[in-house]
Amino acid sequence: MSALRLLILLSLTIFCGEMAIMVALNYAHIENEIVANIVDATALVVIVFPFLYFFIFKSTMQKNKDLTATQQQLLTAKEELEQRIEERTNEIAATNGELKQTVARLNIRRVEMARLSEMVNFFQACRDLDEALVLAKSQWQSMFPGLSGTLFLMKASRNLLEKAAAWGQPYDVEPCHMPDECWALRRGKPHKTGGSDGMAPCRHLSSVESHRHICLPLSAHGEILGTLCLHLPAALDGGGDNGDRRSGDREAFYAAVAESLALAISNLRLREMLRNQAIRDQLTGLYNRRYLLETLERELHRAAARDQHLTMAMLDMDHFKRFNDTFGHAAGDAVLARFGIILREWKRGEDIVARYGGEEFAIVLPDTPADLAFERLESLRKTIETTAIEHHGQLLPPLTISGGFAVYPLHAVDRDDLISIADKALYRSKHDGRNRMTLASDTAGLTHLAEEAAAVVSLSAPTRAA
Ligand code: GH3
Ligand code: MG
Ligand code: MG
Repeated sequence: MSALRLLILLSLTIFCGEMAIMVALNYAHIENEIVANIVDATALVVIVFPFLYFFIFKSTMQKNKDLTATQQQLLTAKEELEQRIEERTNEIAATNGELKQTVARLNIRRVEMARLSEMVNFFQACRDLDEALVLAKSQWQSMFPGLSGTLFLMKASRNLLEKAAAWGQPYDVEPCHMPDECWALRRGKPHKTGGSDGMAPCRHLSSVESHRHICLPLSAHGEILGTLCLHLPAALDGGGDNGDRRSGDREAFYAAVAESLALAISNLRLREMLRNQAIRDQLTGLYNRRYLLETLERELHRAAARDQHLTMAMLDMDHFKRFNDTFGHAAGDAVLARFGIILREWKRGEDIVARYGGEEFAIVLPDTPADLAFERLESLRKTIETTAIEHHGQLLPPLTISGGFAVYPLHAVDRDDLISIADKALYRSKHDGRNRMTLASDTAGLTHLAEEAAAVVSLSAPTRAA
């Protein structure tokens, strides 16, 4: 209500009230003026007070009440706001904490990935898989401290996995196992044993504490190459909500390790295969002529540097044409392949054995003087003459070989001369009746060597076969 309306109403009330009082006083016949004034004033107060109460005090009190209610509402709103601010602050603090954890995890992951990439880089630079496995063993420990593991590689027969490398804390695993003994290979995905998920342990791990292991299949280009078995220490395994997330991160990292490892192994194998194709003879698995010539050059330098002897031997199968004509070319091939196996089993680590061409073979024996070379070549000759070979159910008659050998630096210092002189000695063996080993004749006046050798072998005349 506006102040003007209130004033008009108040004036009206006073006026009407005063009129009514005047009328009432008239009727009452009060003679005393003071009493009449007191009654008049009292009656006016009695009339005006309710008005004042209803129109001014009540309205003011209502306003006060409203003000108090608004104040109360404001207080409640303020409290709510404060509570919400506190909640938000807590939420932000929690998110901030999580963010920090994530950043820390990502940092760890970045370091691990960098290490992994460094290891793969080393792998790529390796000459062959054997070198890479030796390197993996030495590098793993420093790159992934606290993480033990075993690498199994699938054999060429594809029915067996063999332990190829192990690192970290040693723990017992079977040295080899069948592919179907590993759940990871059967299911084609990582298999974690133990823990709350209660997965069945792989049979090849049954002899060790089966919990906290993870087997990861290694495959590349659709080919299964082996498995990577990791022994998970409790500290890295995690537990609870956070731990689950951490363990999920870890498993993703292990999968990345397995993938990189598989690719590196596959690349190394491919490279090895290509290299082998370039330097090996397919039928016998021995080195080819080109490789022998290259290596002989290197071995001669080494022998010169170390002041050592080196024996070069040339071998040729006896009457092989006749053998082929009698038993067929396939039987001849089987004999050559078998001869390759015999030679590979016979050779020592540093010897170089090659198929020189057709049914001819060349052998380089580093650090081997004539007498020792003769002994070794004789043992080879005897093995061959007593080895019976079966081909398609038919027992083939044993074959014999003839050989000639020359010794660096006694007979020649040059690669081609050494081969040529050994070849001439081979022809001498043929000329003298085959199935024998002949030391090169001594054209440089080194008769003592021939004489010594003659004591153990029926050396032919020191003239070379034409
Ligand atoms: P000799 O004792 O004088 O060495 O007689 P030989 O018959 O072995 O000699 P020759 O050099 O006349 O014959 C070599 C034969 O080797 C001729 C060829 O048919 C055979 N030969 C060469 N390479 C292969 C091969 O890869 N497989 C088969 N099955 N035979 C081969
Ligand atoms: Mg020949
Ligand atoms: Mg021959």
